[in-house]
Amino acid sequence: MTQYPPEPFRIKMVEPIRLISTEERKIALQKAGYNVFALRAEDVYVDLLTDSGTGAMSQEQWAGIMQGDESYAGARSYYHLASVMEKIFGFEHFVPTHQGRAAENILTGILVKPGQYVPSNMHFDTTDGNIRARGGRPTNLVIDEAYDPVSLHPFKGNMDLVKLQAFIEKVGPAAIPFGTMTITNNAGGGQPVSLANLRAVSELYHHYGIPFFIDACRYAENAYFIKLREQGYAQSSTLAIAQEIFRLADGAFMSAKKDALVNIGGFLAMRDGNLYQRVCNELILREGFITYGGLAGRDLDAIAIGLEEGLDERYLEYRLGQTHYLGQRLLSAGIPIIQPPGGHAIYLDAGHFLPGIPHAQFPGQALAAELYLEGAVRAVEIGSVMFAYPDPDTGQVVYPELELVRLAIPRRVYTQAHLDYVVSTLERIAERRQTLKGYRITYAPELLRHFTARFEPL
Ligand SMILES: *Cc1c(COP(=O)(O)O)cnc(C)c1O
Repeated sequence: MTQYPPEPFRIKMVEPIRLISTEERKIALQKAGYNVFALRAEDVYVDLLTDSGTGAMSQEQWAGIMQGDESYAGARSYYHLASVMEKIFGFEHFVPTHQGRAAENILTGILVKPGQYVPSNMHFDTTDGNIRARGGRPTNLVIDEAYDPVSLHPFKGNMDLVKLQAFIEKVGPAAIPFGTMTITNNAGGGQPVSLANLRAVSELYHHYGIPFFIDACRYAENAYFIKLREQGYAQSSTLAIAQEIFRLADGAFMSAKKDALVNIGGFLAMRDGNLYQRVCNELILREGFITYGGLAGRDLDAIAIGLEEGLDERYLEYRLGQTHYLGQRLLSAGIPIIQPPGGHAIYLDAGHFLPGIPHAQFPGQALAAELYLEGAVRAVEIGSVMFAYPDPDTGQVVYPELELVRLAIPRRVYTQAHLDYVVSTLERIAERRQTLKGYRITYAPELLRHFTARFEPL
């Protein structure tokens, strides 16, 4: 049940890590204002803060780095990436960007006007923040099962099609500059979206003349879930599934730090030539020339190679198997998680784990702080610290439905022994969970506050 295939690679280079003492951890966390983003990474033992840019590159990627072409314009590295982009995504145009959020910034900067709405199954924090920064209103319309931590729906990232249609009818298609879907749904537990749902969403958007952009960060993990779970795709390759996904869309934006298995990079891709012209102008202003977009030539080679490695099915079987293993071990230990396990992370259900701590006292923050104190394990809160916002119409704080703590698994980095260590750390916390207290925010910026907020224990 919890078995998964051994790593389809062996380790050729190592990076030492160390566990500092309990007393040192207390001091480090206090100095960090109880925000794990402010810790020194060297004071962390197992770092599950994010799977973004934290993966290990392969020997082929490192070899590609050595062959990077650093020409300002028209570099060989750009054409290498362009050929892979064409094969997997098939959009007429793309620009490289330094991260996913740079692509979001350019797209929202061009398309979103104040007061407009951008629907999604669920926006991730940077997308949410970029839309708000333009005066827009990100709107999440994922199926209800996504909010039920124990529902075993195979595609909990799916859009609620009835809600989407009603929403478009209510605000009117003119108020929607573009619609999107996040695959897999990071903010909602790393849950996949089915091809049938993507097809229906594409049809709905297009019926109303709304351009459809996919947030493609974990498209390869999503494609493998489709192969495993959706009827009719067991014999399809993940590449063929990915191609079918992107044929449905008018464009995509992606952080290459996820399924492209690199430490930095992203892209914005699209079909519309007029939009591409405007994107190029913005890109040159903010990122760099259109054939490198804020990256070094060598980065483009690493992305090109990583995009193909990320689709490899032996890798994906191990990858999703590792995540599943961690999830099953926690469930067996009676620790509530979002079920079924997602692709890149296990999401602890902090709301149910710590029922005595209300939304306003940040149960996820309390659990993330405790994970560090108990075992120097770093995780991230995905709950009210990240997503509670005052409603623009009423001024009332709207709390997210779920208070989660994400244990994100870097790609090709940690072994089963590291995951077992995380499980035993959580088992020890579970024994004294009644004694955990909430937190109060002492400083927070207006947007994306979780990155730099400071806290005080209550
Ligand atoms: C990481 C991520 C982004 C933003 O990408 P960055 O490279 O961190 O800027 C956007 N959407 C999703 C779903 C992500 O996981």
